[in-house]
Amino acid sequence: MFRSSTRIMASLLAFGVALVVSGCSDNREPVSEMTSNSEAGSGMETPVAFDATNPFFVEWNTPFGIPPFGEIRNEHYRPAFLAGIDQQRADIDAIRNNPEPATFSNTLEVLEQAGPLLERVNRVFSNLTGTDTNEYLQQLDVEMSPLLTRETDEIYLDPVIFNRVNAVYEQRESLDLDEHQARLLELTHREFLRRGAALDEDSKNRMKDINARISELNTIFAQNLLKETNSFELVIEDEADLSGLPQSLIGSARVKAKSKDLPDAWIFGLDRATYEAFMTFADDRDLRRKMFDGYRARGGQGSSNDNREILAETARLRAERAELLGYANHADYQLETRMAKTPETAENFLLEVWKPGLAKAQQEVAEMQLIVEEEGNDFVLEGWDWWYYAEKLRQKKYAIDEDELKPYFELTHVRDGAFYVANRLFGVRFEPLTDVPVWNPVVQPFAVYGPDDEFLGVFMTDYYARESKRDGAWMSSYRHTSNIQGNDVRPIITNNLNLGLPAQGEPTLLNFTQVETLFHEFGHALHGLLTTARYPRFAGTSGSPRDYTEFPSQFMEHYAAQPEVLAVYARHAETGAVIPPELVDKVQAAAKHNQGFKTTEFIAASLLDLNWHRLSVKEAAAVEDSVQFETDVLEAYGLPDEIGPRYRSTYFSHIFAGGYSAGYYVYLWSEILDADGFTAFKETGNIFDPVLAQRLKENIYAAGGLRDADVLYRQFRGQDPSIEPLLDIRGLN
Ligand SMILES: [Zn+2]
Repeated sequence: MFRSSTRIMASLLAFGVALVVSGCSDNREPVSEMTSNSEAGSGMETPVAFDATNPFFVEWNTPFGIPPFGEIRNEHYRPAFLAGIDQQRADIDAIRNNPEPATFSNTLEVLEQAGPLLERVNRVFSNLTGTDTNEYLQQLDVEMSPLLTRETDEIYLDPVIFNRVNAVYEQRESLDLDEHQARLLELTHREFLRRGAALDEDSKNRMKDINARISELNTIFAQNLLKETNSFELVIEDEADLSGLPQSLIGSARVKAKSKDLPDAWIFGLDRATYEAFMTFADDRDLRRKMFDGYRARGGQGSSNDNREILAETARLRAERAELLGYANHADYQLETRMAKTPETAENFLLEVWKPGLAKAQQEVAEMQLIVEEEGNDFVLEGWDWWYYAEKLRQKKYAIDEDELKPYFELTHVRDGAFYVANRLFGVRFEPLTDVPVWNPVVQPFAVYGPDDEFLGVFMTDYYARESKRDGAWMSSYRHTSNIQGNDVRPIITNNLNLGLPAQGEPTLLNFTQVETLFHEFGHALHGLLTTARYPRFAGTSGSPRDYTEFPSQFMEHYAAQPEVLAVYARHAETGAVIPPELVDKVQAAAKHNQGFKTTEFIAASLLDLNWHRLSVKEAAAVEDSVQFETDVLEAYGLPDEIGPRYRSTYFSHIFAGGYSAGYYVYLWSEILDADGFTAFKETGNIFDPVLAQRLKENIYAAGGLRDADVLYRQFRGQDPSIEPLLDIRGLN
């Protein structure tokens, strides 16, 4: 159920600042929430570095204003960043020096649109460093991340700007603001306070240093991880060693080996899709162990890419920043504006699911050990055996194997299935685009229209893995939405997966977890595309609490397994035959399989995250060995040896490179909402119930962060969510 390593573009506005972060999906606008691509505001005043041959400095006359990817070269970024910073400073100066008293429009709205050039270059840059990076971009990223963080801090810690925002805030009752305006004011004001606008000068200066350093550390962490992942290769030269592996995986490994001039070998890397498939199917126990050890060693091997000290310093600085702001620790700070409100609430919730999850996992171990013995082996099940025997158990209990299933999940069919669901629920349709710029030949672009043929935005899919791309799955955007003073700007949304490129002429076949991931990211995409919020700060996935943002995405996952949806998209890649009902029944029955393991490894990672971020400054400084800290934490909760945390600290990029610090728990928390919300549809007897779908669209997918998350949920559901559906769906009741 949970996404693998997924990623999110971080918010420079939210703490945990990095240009691009790891974590699931969605887009927490870098720098950009306060900027917009508005052509408004005289726009391109870039005297310093103006250069008409630099595509960032000229208007994009491309279809839908899609970035002219083919024209953008490495050397265009730096001058555009620098000019963009200048422009943003000028925009902020204009607010600061405005002789008029502060008003909503001359302060809040101008702030919201400041620095359009920076917004534009940063969007392209942050996205491409995630999907098509190179050494030049990586170096520039390390350089720019702290610089941009400082620029953002200069705004939020500027006393004059804050006084103006505050002056408007003080008069809010008498200003006759509509709901969107009032929300923008509330969120902006809160953000200033949470970023330290009310601190004294010394604390502000320390704050700026901390933020810049954290930003740099986040970038380094992510880059180290990419290098560590790419540096591992399991090269197989003897065909016998491939025993058990599915043809599609073997094909991808061959493609990879050819690209490395080893045409007679097969190469398996550590991207999550390859890793999981290898661990699930490879008969050779020693080779499984090699992959397992390689995966878990990443970031802690003493190489130049070691992340241990990077993450420890990050934890120390976050603790210090929290204390500066008057919080006991970083988790307290982070959770204040989330649905859970406190780390204790989040932890108690996790432990409530942890106990039945652990009990289930112990039962699973016993069942798998039995198979080991039935096979005549006398070893005790270890971590590198789990996937392999879980698959055997699945075949035994449900008589279903992945190779039988996969031909029914061909990539374009699955994608069209997701489109079908969006159409049935929300009346949305997707028109393929040709002849528009793309950043990579595998990208497929679509124009998206609503039920009245209104243009909603552009949707671009990038589903394949490559070495220049980070691992995981995520949603992001090249342009955010805004509708300030009628400048109706619609978004350019992307979905990224990391599927293995099939051998030439072969279809791309997905396993069911990958199908769910595609639906998941598509749910984030709909959250971005359907938005009707006027201001970027809370449009789409922005401005919603992190433990709510996964609700619209996880909600879509439920549809992937519904018989009436499967009947539409699950067609055999060769014969075109619809998936037989008995196979659907098996898929549904098998859905609860291995949930003990999945629940436990997920919660272990969540608890590890909370514990890293509940440290006081003193406690964080006392951590000498981050691996030992991790071991101690997990032992204290009683994590069994055979199950590791889903991410170990040294490659836990959600929390050390991304915006999910003290927030990995959010996937499970959001599952309360998506399980409960989907149950509402089930109860009507129609998973596309039009009345409910309309409420879902209005209050969830279109509303963005317009109201508090618990309010939005009640408006959709008519009542508060219950935890029971979650436990039922996971088979933990
Ligand atoms: Zn997600």
